[in-house]
Amino acid sequence: MACDLSEERIGDPGLIPVAEKISSGERLDLGDAINCLKTRDLLSLGKLADKKRRAIHGEKATFIRNYHLNYTNICKNGCMFCAFHRGLDSPDGYLMSPEEAAQRVSQSPIEPLREVHIVGGCHPGVSLEYCVELLRAIKRARPEAHLKAFTAVEVDHVSRKEGISTGECLRRLKEAGLDAMPGGGAEVFSERLREVLFPAKIDAKRWLQIHAQAHELQIPTNATLLYGHLETEEERALHLLKLRDQQDRSRGFQAFIPLPFQPRNTRLSHLPGPTAMDTLRLVATARLVLDNFPSIKAYWVMMGKGLAQVALHFGADDLEGTIVQEKIAHEAGAETESGLTVEELEALIREAGLEPQERDTFHRPVGP
Ligand code: SF4
Repeated sequence: MACDLSEERIGDPGLIPVAEKISSGERLDLGDAINCLKTRDLLSLGKLADKKRRAIHGEKATFIRNYHLNYTNICKNGCMFCAFHRGLDSPDGYLMSPEEAAQRVSQSPIEPLREVHIVGGCHPGVSLEYCVELLRAIKRARPEAHLKAFTAVEVDHVSRKEGISTGECLRRLKEAGLDAMPGGGAEVFSERLREVLFPAKIDAKRWLQIHAQAHELQIPTNATLLYGHLETEEERALHLLKLRDQQDRSRGFQAFIPLPFQPRNTRLSHLPGPTAMDTLRLVATARLVLDNFPSIKAYWVMMGKGLAQVALHFGADDLEGTIVQEKIAHEAGAETESGLTVEELEALIREAGLEPQERDTFHRPVGP
């Protein structure tokens, strides 16, 4: 069976209702999302996603001058897919003092720095006072940069330690300079997988609740999905639908970031990780299903630069940023550079046939 929908010929029958719904402005449902995630007709799916992407972002693809700071690698959670965390007594475990963190950020070669992305493990000794001092010290060192800091997992950890609500914790962090929150820690919204892979971490309900609280406080956030390990296409699709539902309610997500699992040095190192097909299908599906998310990122560090360029034609509109010193994916064997210059990011976008546009944390255009 084949279908001619305007200029595109679609060979996969599962994509025909998807194309029809997209052209009539109807929302995709779970079955549609699963069909997209399973299709072998990658080019038809990609064309649908690219059309949607161009309708929102035109010829532009964005990036940010940012710096990634990991203030501690000590974490009590021990997730099976993580190569970054260390135990309290590990010889290469560390916890930066706020001053040390600020000094590192102040030495960043990126000028002007638009954003500092700050995440770390769930260190048993990290208090709210430490987090407040960390934000203040970094803000003093780089007043021009916005601070995108602390995943919902870290917010939950610190709130429990202090015996306060996550809403109160977020309010105090905002007072100290928190501008936005990253999307990490969501992993995959599947209780089946949480029990096996990350039992010590918060569940989907709690993750979504903390993001909703942030949105209520006018703290925009991102969302992620770690894919390419043990999850099924249905679990990927359900994850996207839960994010879309939450966005309908709280409207504070700025970007969805698909994170391809990096197996090396993890307890799942026997797994191969996702294929390029998996990545492009997920990026395109996210663009079509997450109709209320402004941005879909192609995170070059984990995807690789080449695939991230291709993803810009499969629904993605943003390459993340300069980063400077990426650690989390590189501990798990990422083979990309640990940072890129502005010129390199612009060249990647231009070579993909698109127009580079620098942005800030809130996805507003900046620069010339
Ligand atoms: S993924 Fe995050 S929460 Fe899990 S072990 Fe690693 S640092 Fe800790």
